[in-house]
Amino acid sequence: MTNKDANKKTWEEIEELTLAPYAQKTINSQGRKFKEEEHPFRSPYQRDRDRIVYSPAFRRLEYKTQVFVSYKGDHYRTRLTHTIEVAGISRTIARTLRLNEDLTEAIALAHDIGHSPFGHSGEDTLNKLMKNDGGFNHNVQSLRIVEKLAQKYPTFSGLNLTYEVKRGLMKHKHDIRNADYEKDPNLDLKTTILEAHIADLADEIAYNSHDMDDALEYGMLTEKDLEHIAIWKETYQQIKKEFPLISKRMQRLYTIRTIIDTVVTDLLITSLKQIEKLNIQSQEDVLNSQEDIICFSPEIAQMNKELKKFLLANFYEHPAILKKKKEGQEILEFLFEIHLKDPSLFLKNPDKIQNMRRVVCDYIAGMTDRFVYQEYERLKDIG
Ligand code: MG
Repeated sequence: MTNKDANKKTWEEIEELTLAPYAQKTINSQGRKFKEEEHPFRSPYQRDRDRIVYSPAFRRLEYKTQVFVSYKGDHYRTRLTHTIEVAGISRTIARTLRLNEDLTEAIALAHDIGHSPFGHSGEDTLNKLMKNDGGFNHNVQSLRIVEKLAQKYPTFSGLNLTYEVKRGLMKHKHDIRNADYEKDPNLDLKTTILEAHIADLADEIAYNSHDMDDALEYGMLTEKDLEHIAIWKETYQQIKKEFPLISKRMQRLYTIRTIIDTVVTDLLITSLKQIEKLNIQSQEDVLNSQEDIICFSPEIAQMNKELKKFLLANFYEHPAILKKKKEGQEILEFLFEIHLKDPSLFLKNPDKIQNMRRVVCDYIAGMTDRFVYQEYERLKDIG
């Protein structure tokens, strides 16, 4: 036996010993589109995670908006810090449920890699500009980046990730249809895995809590605004009772922390109950289950829904946010049109391009907010 075989056996053995029978194990992976030698000491999902982290698209998340467009404060979440929070929550859940932590981490780290500048408002703008050319959606774009756009490896385009990670990036059937990858049977959503559900729900846990945190920190919401929101009200009262002498700010920060803990705990307890109730013994059982396996209790699900609705109406639609959104949208439209009109601004051989609108869209979508502003300043007088 070579050293390589010995090490390969090690991770497969570790998975066999530590993971639940319904976890996605390396040994059952559908592999990669382009066959590659296995790495001597990193499992395929660990490799996927590293490929994502070492990609420029991942590094650009640092300067992409989560909710706040301007960088007035150093403590706002960016797309990158949001992603790190999602990965941390995902790993905690996966490890506790004995699911594949490496896989869920890779999915979490890549889940927002396709976001355009200016968050969802940037996405809406690009979708409008591309309405007759296939549209724009950040989930589809995440797949486009890892499949095609990332250029780093000499023998293939994209990152050549495992099918499990790529499937984890596709949240909806229409994502796959729009991505035009439906002919690839390995991307079939019917084979959805629990590790992907975890990353999806960890995303929701992260943004509900940190958006509330950011909005309170920067005075766009007050504690009073939240007093009718059940999850905030219950936790805040409990913290005030437990720590009456600490500062109001500390009470608020500790409330946010406690909400995350409560929601993650609820998800873990409810999911374990579901696994037992539905007698989930294998991945086959996961596939055939009529009910969600990774889920919140009905009470917490209701509270999350209420919070989400509140944030939508009172924070994401806050006049200060809307003003920045509108400004961002106008700049994106300007940059899109000017690059479409003169592709030599960003391409060496524009004549060779067949679908120029898509190429411009990919280029603009890849920009950070910071680069958008820089480019706007540089190009605004030409337009
Ligand atoms: Mg996200």
